Amino acid sequence: MPTDPKLCTTSGESPDKVRAEQTNPTGQHKAYLILCDEEREKGFVKPYRELYTHNVCGTETRMSRAIAETYARDPYFYGATFCVHCNAHKPLTEFTWSDGEPMYPGDPAWRQPEPA
Ligand SMILES: [Zn+2]
Repeated sequence: MPTDPKLCTTSGESPDKVRAEQTNPTGQHKAYLILCDEEREKGFVKPYRELYTHNVCGTETRMSRAIAETYARDPYFYGATFCVHCNAHKPLTEFTWSDGEPMYPGDPAWRQPEPA
């Protein structure tokens, strides 16, 4: 299967290599998959947000700009995110954005994206 041309990584390495190395059960991964610059520059369908709360422990975590932009461009891109307190990746169902919207697109309180 050819690599999706929209797919890049925070380290500049190949998406396949980064995905294969995301095996550590705790701690942040060395690198993350993101949408490439050209794809993110096409416009956001959700507001740009980088701060979110883990509902289980109540701790706020801030994500890096490229990952936050990837969420804003494609809110379905990730299925899990990192909590600095739990020091682990947890399902999006456990998180809320700082503006109060759930991060999980399947949540009834989640707001439908605007066309970019
Ligand atoms: Zn937590």
